Amino acid sequence: MKILVARIPEEGSHYNGDVPGEILQLEDDRFVRNPGDVKYSLYAQRVSDELIVRGSLEVELDLGCARCSEFFSTRVTVSDFLRAYSAPEGTDSVDITEDLREEILLHVPGFAVCSEECKGVCPQCGTDLNTGSCACKTEEGSGAWSALDGLNL
Ligand SMILES: [Zn+2]
Ligand SMILES: [Zn+2]
Repeated sequence: MKILVARIPEEGSHYNGDVPGEILQLEDDRFVRNPGDVKYSLYAQRVSDELIVRGSLEVELDLGCARCSEFFSTRVTVSDFLRAYSAPEGTDSVDITEDLREEILLHVPGFAVCSEECKGVCPQCGTDLNTGSCACKTEEGSGAWSALDGLNL
């Protein structure tokens, strides 16, 4: 996304719209995918030789659950986007695409779960415990305890 510096009036300009989710370059990301359009609501103003851009960003995308690995849809919002660009007299435009990408990726949670109740997968056999159950012993220690019970008898 380019901001045409020369057209910004002294009081600044508002920019509302969206850019395709492809700018996030998630093709090789294993945990984040299917981004929708990145919505932006920005305000740009020239202050001496700089262009100050601030505002908020929002995008819907799919995240891999840290417990069960299933992808779930969520929304990432950035409420405090703020960047300053060098824009001396004669600057035609400033491209902020890379900063939009960087800021969104910074706000993607590193440990996301599809729901607080997600049971995850069985660490032994890999069964998704949200959709089924397995015959594995649920606790490592249970076998030892039952052996002690046996001694008491
Ligand atoms: Zn999950
Ligand atoms: Zn199991």
